[in-house]
Amino acid sequence: MRWRVIVILVLCAALGFALLGDGGAPPPEAPPGFGYPPGRITVEPAGRDVRLIHVREAVMGTEYAVEVYAPDEETARLADAAAWHVVARLEQTLSTWIPSSPLSRLNREAARRPFPVDPATFDLLRLARRMHRVSGGAFDPTVGPLLRLWKPLARLPEPPAPAAVERARDLVGFAGVLLDPETRTVRFRKPGMSLDLGGIAKGYAGDLAARAAEAAGARACRVNAGGDVVVSGPPPSDPRGFEVEIRDPRGSRLDALPGRAFRLARGAVATSGNYERYTEVAGRRYSHILDPRTGWPVESPVVQVTVIAQTGAEADALATALAVLGERDGLRLAERLPGVEALFLVREDGGLRPAATSGFPGSGR
Ligand code: ADP
Ligand code: MG
Repeated sequence: MRWRVIVILVLCAALGFALLGDGGAPPPEAPPGFGYPPGRITVEPAGRDVRLIHVREAVMGTEYAVEVYAPDEETARLADAAAWHVVARLEQTLSTWIPSSPLSRLNREAARRPFPVDPATFDLLRLARRMHRVSGGAFDPTVGPLLRLWKPLARLPEPPAPAAVERARDLVGFAGVLLDPETRTVRFRKPGMSLDLGGIAKGYAGDLAARAAEAAGARACRVNAGGDVVVSGPPPSDPRGFEVEIRDPRGSRLDALPGRAFRLARGAVATSGNYERYTEVAGRRYSHILDPRTGWPVESPVVQVTVIAQTGAEADALATALAVLGERDGLRLAERLPGVEALFLVREDGGLRPAATSGFPGSGR
């Protein structure tokens, strides 16, 4: 009788460990495109290759398209599935909307103990730290406590009290995040800190998705996440690259934009705006991008910033950072960074004035 009790106890302990003890280990394998509606797939010949385009709505809150070129349809479909698999895994891991996601759990627990994360999340956090440093702190994924204050704004009669903003701002700063590469763990120095990777995850997902498609046999891949584009190489049919178009937020003076449409053979483009996602309270618009220096939503005549960079993660993070920095400091930073170009659209005299770095396509260099 006794041995049975012991066996049951051991089994319970093992099960408990399996459920709880692995901390932030990645969630169980999900089937490709887990949780997404099937979307629209078109397959057509493109020279000697096959081109497959797969569009899905409502992925990470936006429309996502994966386009692959492969020698045959079977390879194209495999590459497409590989790309979506990566996107689905990252969304499940990094969502702060899903309370049981590894990032949500990290946010609850990392102040109490070093929290283990999967290799992709650790890599992304290191990249985020680099972008934080490069941008002089303008890009700061530790704005979580401030977002918590500002996000419910739509339901509030007025903006949060200055004292509450100050308290939240006290918990912001990447210096408070300890990344230990040995144990692949994350730790917060202060209770109440929280990470939000919404300003970089979309671009990073594009990078990994394009890489996965190529590893599965695609010759070229373009991932388009609501206008944030990653291109892994030129399509075989056109060595100049994929055509990328920058959309004007209001459709006005579109043709006057430098580089409104250009070719991208390899790299990424991301756009951040203070126009598309905002909250209106008492007739005032508040941007969804926060200035970590003040703790307040960015207030600026900059309507939109587009950044070209070598990777999606860099382009995405820098677009957010430049939206915080504004035209003068933003252009200065972008000019200084190798392989980075930027285009600002600034509200002026009822219209939009473009201001670009010297190497931005179409800006005359
Ligand atoms: P979009 O999601 O519209 O492409 P961004 O890439 O600029 O826009 O990301 C904005 C998101 O980044 C916000 O919704 C928020 O989750 C997060 N965020 C806000 N302010 C900052 C900041 N200063 N640094 C890093 N992330 C931020
Ligand atoms: Mg961004």
